[in-house]
Amino acid sequence: MLYVVGLDRGHGGPDPGAIGPTGLREADVNEGVVQRAEQYLTRMRVRVVRSCARDQNPLQRERREVMLAGGAELVVSIHHNGHTSPDAHGMEAIVYPGERYDSGALAYHLLRRLAVNCNRCDRGIKVKQFTVCNAPIPAVMIEPAFVTNPEEERLLRQDWYLEKAALAIVEGIWRFMTA
Ligand SMILES: [Zn+2]
Repeated sequence: MLYVVGLDRGHGGPDPGAIGPTGLREADVNEGVVQRAEQYLTRMRVRVVRSCARDQNPLQRERREVMLAGGAELVVSIHHNGHTSPDAHGMEAIVYPGERYDSGALAYHLLRRLAVNCNRCDRGIKVKQFTVCNAPIPAVMIEPAFVTNPEEERLLRQDWYLEKAALAIVEGIWRFMTA
């Protein structure tokens, strides 16, 4: 299989991202999912280009350029959601305005596989000017759950749950590549 996938871990370094009610840091959850997804993809002989190392937090534009320079043919940026209301929960995908390069189809496949593996409420595909996804290839930001929701934070602390989420993302990428 000749394919190069760009994986972007949201936040990192001094930026923890959203923080859960018992202190879980979004950046750590993102890293856990990205590492597992990278392992699965590598076993499938898909080449992975990461946007940055574990302890780095480059600008969105730099993250995108690193992945494009590395030959990425699609990009998945992995974040987890946060909200001031602890009730907010579920998964969503974000694409850049314009619905270009089949990003909507990639978002659809990611959400479908996450629904099967992780059984979170589907908040759908949102359109936002998220710079990492402003690229001339399919590019999606995925937020599989809210770290600020007590139930989802508890799930996100479990290795088995991160494993399921990572596998769902890999399966979604695979469905998109082979559709
Ligand atoms: Zn984030």
